[in-house]
Amino acid sequence: MSECTHNCETCGVGDCGERQSGSMQIPPHDGSVIKKVIGVVSGKGGVGKSLVTSLLAVMASREGYKTAIMDADITGPSIPKAFGIHEKAIGNELGIYPARSAGGISVMSVNLLTEDETAPVIWRGPILAGVVKQFWQDVLWGAVDYMFVDMPPGTGDVPLTVFQSLPLDGVIVVASPQELVGMIVEKAVKMADMMSVPVLGLVENMSYFRCPDCGCIHEIFGKSRADEIAAKYGIKKTVKIPIDPEIARLVDAGHIDEYNAEWLQQLKGVIES
Ligand code: ADP
Repeated sequence: MSECTHNCETCGVGDCGERQSGSMQIPPHDGSVIKKVIGVVSGKGGVGKSLVTSLLAVMASREGYKTAIMDADITGPSIPKAFGIHEKAIGNELGIYPARSAGGISVMSVNLLTEDETAPVIWRGPILAGVVKQFWQDVLWGAVDYMFVDMPPGTGDVPLTVFQSLPLDGVIVVASPQELVGMIVEKAVKMADMMSVPVLGLVENMSYFRCPDCGCIHEIFGKSRADEIAAKYGIKKTVKIPIDPEIARLVDAGHIDEYNAEWLQQLKGVIES
């Protein structure tokens, strides 16, 4: 009978009560050198997570960083549409090549692989999780300074796979003002904590509206609680994004690359921290 070697990687004792799993991280494609991987998470859908992912990439690319987006929101992919990407991904025996946005951001999404981008993706959790792993292992990302991963909302199979399989340098939590009142955002923060991944920043989307006529700021959903919640969880950076009809227009037109606003600099502060 074998004895415990106190090294779970090599020990042959199968029923050891102290067994610790090794790292579940998987290596990227041989043709990829990815310096930083940042996940963008939210407690629920429709709060602007994909928008924040897109704008993080737009800002990083403008700063001169080689930038990529992995659209891991497999059942609700919206990144290609925001960048006006409609062509299909090309692959050969070496791997799959990401699409490029007009501004040069590399993008991989399930929408680039399915024939009809309006057809729903009705796959079970393990298949979805497998796709995320393939996006990491089979895509020829090349040299990337910043990869932003648009994660599905919540704490299910796919977010768990991203947390376990990818070498995340940190996550950015996106929430609407209403979510900050409830407990939903706190689950996303606690999940990152349990997976030992630092929360780099809290982004409150639709935080306020600036009147185009008088310049006054209106906190339509009530006074922001972003700073208070960030302080509660020791999150150092908060960014408040306004409701901006220009954002909605550019997303719908597939031209989010063109968006510019002063507050984008605050996103820079979050990723470079
Ligand atoms: P999620 O990824 O959280 O499901 P999205 O980023 O897809 O949410 O955003 C949902 C919709 O709301 C999109 O059409 C987007 O253009 C719009 N939207 C998000 N944030 C803003 C904002 N601050 N101002 C205007 N429209 C916004």
